Amino acid sequence: MSQHEDISKVYDLIVIGGGINGAGIAVDAAGRGLKVALLESVDFASGTSSRSSKLVHGGLRYLEYYDFRLVRESLSERERVMKKARHIVWPLRFVMPVVKQSRPAWIVRIGLFFYDHLAPRVTLQGTETVRLSKKTNRMGFREHYDKAFIYSDCWVDDARLVVANLQGAEAEGADILARTPFKNAERDGDNWLVTALDQDSGRTLKLRANVIVNAAGPWAVPIAQSVPGVTTDYSAKLVRGSHIIVPSLYDGDNATMLQIGDGRIVVTMPYENDYTLVGTTDENHPGDPRRVEITDQEQDYLLAAANKFFTRQITADDIHWTYSGVRPLFEEGKSRDDNPTTVTRDYSFKIDQGADGKGAPFLTVLGGKLTTYRRLADHVIEKLKPFLPPDIGPAHTGTSILPGADIGSEGPFAYAETLKLVFPWLPDTLRIRLARTYGSRVEKMLAGVEKLEDLGTVFGGNMTRREVDYLIENEWAASVEDVLWRRTKCGLRFSEDETKALSDYIEKARALTAPKEAAS
Ligand SMILES: Cc1cc2nc3c(=O)[nH]c(=O)nc-3n(C[C@H](O)[C@H](O)[C@H](O)COP(=O)(O)OP(=O)(O)OC[C@H]3O[C@@H](n4cnc5c(N)ncnc54)[C@H](O)[C@@H]3O)c2cc1C
Repeated sequence: MSQHEDISKVYDLIVIGGGINGAGIAVDAAGRGLKVALLESVDFASGTSSRSSKLVHGGLRYLEYYDFRLVRESLSERERVMKKARHIVWPLRFVMPVVKQSRPAWIVRIGLFFYDHLAPRVTLQGTETVRLSKKTNRMGFREHYDKAFIYSDCWVDDARLVVANLQGAEAEGADILARTPFKNAERDGDNWLVTALDQDSGRTLKLRANVIVNAAGPWAVPIAQSVPGVTTDYSAKLVRGSHIIVPSLYDGDNATMLQIGDGRIVVTMPYENDYTLVGTTDENHPGDPRRVEITDQEQDYLLAAANKFFTRQITADDIHWTYSGVRPLFEEGKSRDDNPTTVTRDYSFKIDQGADGKGAPFLTVLGGKLTTYRRLADHVIEKLKPFLPPDIGPAHTGTSILPGADIGSEGPFAYAETLKLVFPWLPDTLRIRLARTYGSRVEKMLAGVEKLEDLGTVFGGNMTRREVDYLIENEWAASVEDVLWRRTKCGLRFSEDETKALSDYIEKARALTAPKEAAS
């Protein structure tokens, strides 16, 4: 890790924000030979990028709002992102029952026809029409529902997609700095002088760059507004989406798309083996983007949605975990109306070059989806080309794969089978979890280990000391939240005491490595 290096060089690009967009821009730029630094104030993916609905999807409902550009781009990205990150992105079949009081079946079918054909589809299956009454246990649905469509999208481990991109960027020479908030910047001659704070050491960093890319998601507008000489003719308000995690609502590995009476959509999908994820809501969030929590009202809304459709009925007591995220809704004629549900999920950029229009550029990223992060990054670099060295390398992210994704074309479950040969002593649940969390990196994590006991203390669930050490040494993990809720979701199976013990261990382990890092 280059966390404590003394940085005195001039970067081509400094990226603010270690969410999916910042990470995607960093790997794209570094892979083209640019000198890149990325600043993240807390932990990578600690903003919206660990709080999404976990879909790499075309966005079926955006067709209703005629967002054809966005839907086409998103659809074409599904298989590309799946190839790039096979270990953490895989196909998901969605069951969408026809609801009498909602959109007519023929309209939904036409929408799905477009969904299947707007962009090339190679491996993902097309739409089929089914009768739930002919399926085992009606696929978990209540008897009110019979006709249904089944179509394809993809599942993604959002926070791990961020880390994989950052590992890729670091491998290409980028300086990736966690817990290092951007503080301010000023134009100095032809470039920027940036001040950031290394929170681990308490040191103030001064960095020089030709271009700043502000990819701070919900924080992007306040950051742009705080930089002297940057004009912001746009503002943002935040919209919150919440999810609940409950014991599995149905058998099977399909997701569902539920048309709620108010015209909105709720999705459910299998989550971490024993659970179902239900989301999302769309509520204005006037507060701090770091303090995002589900309200009782949102909880009731999601419970009612699930109970309306599934035989297995649930109450608030069944909620095992919740999480919420915010998306910034930009106000500059981009939104069609004030309704957070119908506002576009498309992205755009603002470039500021100071009052005379000739200063060092400050590019702010507005909006976006996980699904389109790679295209967004590509567009950012294209847009910045006039300000970048002329010998910049070609676009590469459309074909390159991310660290951990070299697991063969059959996906993580088939890869987990092959791991049986290498690590026959690994219990099945642990082997499968490691394969779909780390992909081929699991072989690095377990190199030299010959028996289960050598993995060390079990902190909780099936998380061992070996895995925790790997996360600290290789994935910038520095706190119990990083380990249990972003790099993994093992927090679902940890008790309070286990969490405390792990937290103490991480603190000690980091204290031991800190002097070594400072000396390097
Ligand atoms: C509820 C919900 C569900 C969603 N579901 C999906 C989905 O299923 N599929 C999909 O494609 N998209 C989905 N999206 C959209 C997607 O999650 C977001 O577009 C994406 O995560 C935004 O990434 P980002 O990098 O722009 O922002 P973020 O992930 O928020 O990253 C910004 C980063 O900037 C950092 N930061 C803030 N201030 C500073 C500073 N001063 N210095 C340094 N760093 C700073 C933050 O800590 C944060 O890590 C969803 C969004 C929401 C809200």
